Amino acid sequence: MQYEPILKNATTGEANLADYDKGRQEFTWKDIYNGFDTFGDGKLNIAHEVIDRHIQTSLKDKIALYWEGGNGDTETYSFNDLSKLTNRFANVLKDSGIQKGDRVFTFMDRIPENYIALLGTLKAGGVIGPLFSAFGPEAVKDRLADCDAKVLVTTPKLIKVVDEIINDLPSLKTIFIVNRKSEAYELKENEKSYENAMNNASDEFDVVQTSKDDYAIIHYTSGTTGKPKGVVHAHQAIAGHYATAKYVLDLSPDDIYWCTADPGWVTGTSYGIFGPWANGISQVIYEGGFGAGKWYKVIEKYKVTVWYTAPTAIRMLMKAGEKPIKKHDLSSLRYMCSVGEPLNPEAVVWGQQVFGLPFHDNWWQTETGCIQIANYPVQDIKPGSMGRPFPSVSAAILDDDFTNELPPGQEGHLALKSGWPSMFRTYWNKEDLYQSRFKDDWYITGDKATKDEDGYFWFVGRADDVINTGGHLVGPFEVESVLIEHPAVAEAGVIGIPDPLVMEVIKAFVSLKDGYEPSDELLKDIKKFAKKKLHALACPRQLQFLDGLPKTKSGKIMRRLLKARELGLPEGDTSTLEE
Ligand code: AMP
Repeated sequence: MQYEPILKNATTGEANLADYDKGRQEFTWKDIYNGFDTFGDGKLNIAHEVIDRHIQTSLKDKIALYWEGGNGDTETYSFNDLSKLTNRFANVLKDSGIQKGDRVFTFMDRIPENYIALLGTLKAGGVIGPLFSAFGPEAVKDRLADCDAKVLVTTPKLIKVVDEIINDLPSLKTIFIVNRKSEAYELKENEKSYENAMNNASDEFDVVQTSKDDYAIIHYTSGTTGKPKGVVHAHQAIAGHYATAKYVLDLSPDDIYWCTADPGWVTGTSYGIFGPWANGISQVIYEGGFGAGKWYKVIEKYKVTVWYTAPTAIRMLMKAGEKPIKKHDLSSLRYMCSVGEPLNPEAVVWGQQVFGLPFHDNWWQTETGCIQIANYPVQDIKPGSMGRPFPSVSAAILDDDFTNELPPGQEGHLALKSGWPSMFRTYWNKEDLYQSRFKDDWYITGDKATKDEDGYFWFVGRADDVINTGGHLVGPFEVESVLIEHPAVAEAGVIGIPDPLVMEVIKAFVSLKDGYEPSDELLKDIKKFAKKKLHALACPRQLQFLDGLPKTKSGKIMRRLLKARELGLPEGDTSTLEE
């Protein structure tokens, strides 16, 4: 279905990016650096820019963090509080012998200590690797072993996971146990109490003067093959986080901002820590998991104004319907964004209907470090489009040789001109793989997309997900979007399966909304519905009900796994699979 554009007033908006075209002409990274407090000689440290820079200003006592625990506990931290606590942790690491460039990992729920340890590590010059707390032993081992982590910060609950693999981690010298509730816990030989170490440490620390190119953070991301690869970002990335948080998320001093992502994923650090705090913004961190009622309560309680979330969550909210929305006062919301996977046009429009605000989709990757293509407050939204490139970004659709730019409307490889500050610096220990992602001046994103006459980009799928049926390329997203418009369908995953005649035929897997049961009749009805909305070749030939679709912990439907299961192939790396 073609959705009408959601029109914005491009001239009178009070957005930080008041005029997109002017922004593209005038934006410079130099201006962004000028707002920073660098140490000179190209030296800067993310943690200093994010926290300590503010304590020289009127922001010193501003609340940086409103923390809401999963059980309803609350805590607040000013920028000054965070400065002192992160100084303490930096001293703790220094006393443990951590040197510039050493890897330190956090493996915790979204508790304040996670954020303190993360920023403290950066202050100490270490490279931080934040892990998602739902990881199992293999996933933890793969990551820590790959980059020879020296220190791990975790909790009594999660140490059990580490115990299973500790013998495979010879480089891991020290484990700090965060025991916020003072549970009975006996420290083992290489373990130390985080609380004792923090109490004994000074809250003054001279931040290590890292260079803009020194490595700062490592996030592991799954590929289509092999083990997860460590995407490495340098301190300079803060320029990208800061600028995009300002101009895409439109953060302004009075905002209360909530990013629902976990710091185990790049969105949870770039936009759940660095970008907003570099802008001096108060943010909410909610330890609990998803729940429509719970989430709306967080928005109501903290009067969240800017909300950054993900399509799966939005679809789950859609599934929960309007009833929980009506129970809460959500009038504080002024701006909503989404990232991570294709945002169905239906979801954009739903936002407009139920919150009076559309979701602004934006596109980026772990590798790009910050948002590259986005819908902005002042730009008309074409529902289903990822929007237009960030002011300094050159994006193009390239042909299969990655040489020529394709004209509007043609599907090809989404590529970015290299050179933005938050671009990844390598895949840890996999320099060849890193180099293989570039062709001439272009970084090849691995996504397929189209660009329209107005310069809006439209996602088609991962380069390896696109289905070739009878010589026609069909993006699974296109089919999934239609399927989830059916009133019974909650989620859909679409793959191509080999066919001797037309190369591949489309198979769809769907899970149903509460209140619907699988039946032959429903199956026929969904197929009929799809047939009406899609051109003949894009219609799923096969359709199967599943209780739930396999998803990564960050909520992406794992089509690769659907395909492997369907074809009886090895499932490959499933460490990021949601439980
Ligand atoms: P990750 O590195 O895990 O963040 O995944 C990046 C990939 O997620 C991109 O290459 C896309 O395939 C997908 N992705 C992220 N944002 C979007 C979006 N707004 N629309 C469509 N796909 C997206």
